[in-house]
Amino acid sequence: MPGFDGTKRPHRRFNPLTGEWILVSPHRTQRPWQGQVETTASPAALKYDPACYMCPGNTRSTGHVNPPYKNVFVFDNDFPALLPEGEPAAFNEHDLLIAETETGVCRVLCFSPRHDLTLSMMKTSDIRVVVDCWSDQFQELGALPGVQYVQIFENRGAMMGASNPHPHCQIWSSASIPNIPRLEQESQAAYRKSKGSCLLCDYFRLEDSSQIRTVVQNEHFLAVVPFWAVWPFETMILSKRHIGAMHELGSEEREALSDILKRLTSRYDNLFQTSFPYSMGFHQRPTDGLEHPEWHFHAHFFPPLLRSATIRKFMVGFELLGMPQRDITAETSAERLRAVPDVLPNEPLK
Ligand SMILES: [Zn+2]
Ligand SMILES: [Zn+2]
Ligand SMILES: [Zn+2]
Repeated sequence: MPGFDGTKRPHRRFNPLTGEWILVSPHRTQRPWQGQVETTASPAALKYDPACYMCPGNTRSTGHVNPPYKNVFVFDNDFPALLPEGEPAAFNEHDLLIAETETGVCRVLCFSPRHDLTLSMMKTSDIRVVVDCWSDQFQELGALPGVQYVQIFENRGAMMGASNPHPHCQIWSSASIPNIPRLEQESQAAYRKSKGSCLLCDYFRLEDSSQIRTVVQNEHFLAVVPFWAVWPFETMILSKRHIGAMHELGSEEREALSDILKRLTSRYDNLFQTSFPYSMGFHQRPTDGLEHPEWHFHAHFFPPLLRSATIRKFMVGFELLGMPQRDITAETSAERLRAVPDVLPNEPLK
């Protein structure tokens, strides 16, 4: 950052995807911690848990019996946040009390029949099966009448509210575009209109030329701590090619996505020698029937850990009332993630 010392002075950084600012206070990184300390997260010990509603062969609370699946397994969420049916209705009183019905389909996707694995522990070839399933689900749900957006996301670890350690993600499809992808879509469309190019293609070129925020990369993907990251070890995976959704990825690119997911999550696990908690998800173009040439496929990882396996960041106070704030800079976080190996110490499945 020529002419700008972002390593010592408080400053704010702009997130061009959401149009929001984030406060960075690098001079505070030495402050002592006297706050909450969590217990260390350890991976599930059982390969098969008879009490788990996702393990093969088990009966769920609805009475459905899971098949003896060998790789991935998708089912409709037994307690979905959205329901597919319902007559549309809306309510508006004085433009102040506004509500409308929302419909959609929510699914659960198990990454593996093994209860005790995480993406970082899975074989790349097994992650590839998950990538193919994500792609199929995006297409299938996105093609349903009335579905304008498909959100794939994984909550990992009890710290992120995951209720079950079985490796899985959720897929929520909805009749409206949720807030964050809508903001990102508007920003990408406005950038394309004013510059004539893609926001994230241009951002990729900046990151690729400096490498100071790069965490890991391969031939088709780059993982960086974004310049505007809010969470201490937040990362973003960018496809090097301009595509809007996962199903446009070719076979080699899918291999590369599986590879970078394994290497990035392994770095996370190695950083604090813990099964690293996070929320992650893919942002893909809306499925509202429009082309969306502005949309660039990417993934976000939002991990809560701050300075060890047991100390997490809270979004409170100024962050709830003013704007998000962080102490460690994005550049320092990237350096720390680069400094640890991108394979696990005891690769159990190699
Ligand atoms: Zn299980
Ligand atoms: Zn692009
Ligand atoms: Zn995004």
